[in-house]
Amino acid sequence: MAGTLNQYLDDNQERFVEQLKQWLAIPSISTLVENAEDVYEAAEWARNKLVFMGFTEVRTIPTNGHPLVYSEWRTDPKQPTLLIYGHYDVQPVDPVYEWESPPFEPEVRDGNLYARGASDDKGQVMLVLAALEAWLKVEGDLPVNVKILLEGEEEAGGSGVERFVTRNPGLLKADAALICDTSMFSAEQPSIINGLRGILYTEIEVTGPERDLHSGSYGGIAPNPIHALCVLISKLKGEDGVINIPELEEHIQEPDSEERAFLKNDPLNVEASLLTEMGVKQFVGEEAYSPLERLGLRPTLEVHGIRGGFVGDGAKTVIPSKALAKVSLRLPSELDPNEVFVWLDKAVKEHMPAGYNVKAVNLHGGRGISVDPENRYVRAAAASLKTVYGREPVFMREGGSIPIAALCNSVLKVPVVLMGFALPDDNIHAPNEKFSLEQFKSGMKVVAEFLGRIKL
Ligand SMILES: [Zn+2]
Repeated sequence: MAGTLNQYLDDNQERFVEQLKQWLAIPSISTLVENAEDVYEAAEWARNKLVFMGFTEVRTIPTNGHPLVYSEWRTDPKQPTLLIYGHYDVQPVDPVYEWESPPFEPEVRDGNLYARGASDDKGQVMLVLAALEAWLKVEGDLPVNVKILLEGEEEAGGSGVERFVTRNPGLLKADAALICDTSMFSAEQPSIINGLRGILYTEIEVTGPERDLHSGSYGGIAPNPIHALCVLISKLKGEDGVINIPELEEHIQEPDSEERAFLKNDPLNVEASLLTEMGVKQFVGEEAYSPLERLGLRPTLEVHGIRGGFVGDGAKTVIPSKALAKVSLRLPSELDPNEVFVWLDKAVKEHMPAGYNVKAVNLHGGRGISVDPENRYVRAAAASLKTVYGREPVFMREGGSIPIAALCNSVLKVPVVLMGFALPDDNIHAPNEKFSLEQFKSGMKVVAEFLGRIKL
């Protein structure tokens, strides 16, 4: 049967690419107000595609922001239900002059499809839809019950999908969730994500004098908030990369020793490619942990920007009254970002030099997840990857956060299969985003195989 499904996918490959191109031509940039209608059009496109495939219950659900597209296929209540998530919105395109072909005029070059959203995430949603279509056209039915939820605010940090999931756990009840919105290790080496870190994003503001002062008149005696902020930051995380928030260490679980050894041995030589990707000669961070452990399992604290004082051309001898830093922490999945904020706030107050006021603000947070590789759905995904790629997949941690994955975990309480087909050089969120057509084709075969394997 897999043979017939694969035949259908091969025979219709060109049409799938053409359809994906149509979808990619709609500039559904969710963060830009002027593109709101395009985002809606991209949702409509997805809705029509589902209707064309034979889904009868397809709904566009309005939210406070961009709409959700929701659909169900019921085959047999005794079969498991798979919840499939994806997003149809895309990132902005600046700097647009760096694109070799216009971001919303999809173009194939050297076996890659170039366009904004090609791999994040329209191309990956499309390959799932193609796999579903193959089952429907070849078998006239899906092997399992399916619920599809597509959102249009993923790239804008919108809360529509979160509100919907939190309010409709009954509707979205499933046995597992499939998310195709991540990268694979390489085109030859398939991988599955077995963990995502959480995130806490904060602002730390330091206030000193009640107005800006002149350094000639007051320098030497006036408190300078920029200096104090730098001192504070270096106390929160020292030169050795160690974060001085003791509660973090107390609450982190000891990682699995097998995974730890895998990260330390680095059999795929990920470290070398990371150095190349970053364009640096050496890693920084905690000596006591291997670079991959620092990247995947350890908490991080990074400063993203500092605002204050004078940054224009030329000289101005101001002692600013205020300084602000944007600081985020990436967190192991067992930590609750809101609780971590309380610990951070305490450390900030403790380490703040005397003579200043300091205030930390919790801008947003999201929990991480960790996936049990022994789960039957994850095992089915691994077996499907092996069937198509001819190679056992490796399990990898991903540094970023995917809020919906955490919701599936915490609200819907279903195991999450994070099986993505993007490649590390796909330029996601950057100019010249692309998706390998070979990955596109293999991806649909993997998903078609996966659907068959999870049938009871
Ligand atoms: Zn994405």
